[in-house]
Amino acid sequence: MNIKNTLEYVSVLDPYRKNRIVDILKENKIPYSFDIGSNYTNIVITPQCTDTSKTKMLLTAHYDAVEGSFGANDNGAAIALLLQLAKYFMFHESKYQIEIVLFDKEESGHFYGSLGYVTSHVIKNTLFINFDVIGCGDHITIVRHDNNLGIITVDNMRKYNIAEFEFFPPSDAMILNQIGRLNGLEISVFHRKILIINFHMKFVNTCIMAYMIILNLLIMIL
Ligand SMILES: [Zn+2]
Repeated sequence: MNIKNTLEYVSVLDPYRKNRIVDILKENKIPYSFDIGSNYTNIVITPQCTDTSKTKMLLTAHYDAVEGSFGANDNGAAIALLLQLAKYFMFHESKYQIEIVLFDKEESGHFYGSLGYVTSHVIKNTLFINFDVIGCGDHITIVRHDNNLGIITVDNMRKYNIAEFEFFPPSDAMILNQIGRLNGLEISVFHRKILIINFHMKFVNTCIMAYMIILNLLIMIL
């Protein structure tokens, strides 16, 4: 599985993304299931973990895009990253019980996928990291949603030059925290100097550096 190819493959207009994500899961023999509600279809990937005493960690990202957008940066990049991690955690033990959830219909403005997920599941002893807009730039930012319980240490924030934002536009992280009552983080990537965010870019050639930084960080902290 190559992260750049995956990103290009999933960066298509809706409604084709879901099927393309499923293609990749099948091709890589990654077990998955659908979490279906009246107006959403989330994709759930649970790498095997036999130790249920571990804290559960939801790794989440929305897979839908704004109408008419190829959505490479928002949010195909996050999907490609989570598919890569899904494969990684099939073969590597994490200190958490990992569950990866790809949410539908975030861009509806109603967050149907994440809202449906937190209201239809009993979720306890669980943290989350939500990824939104991570494809382009050299500058990782996090938004803490309550106490992150040490998911990212101060040392790692320094090492990876991570900036902390107090505020970010509403996203699935807000639903996980405010409705689901979960603690966690949102991770995004921006350019250090220019605060122009191209949410709906079609081309993906600048994405690889951001990926590698985040991938290294995640393998370190999970
Ligand atoms: Zn987004």
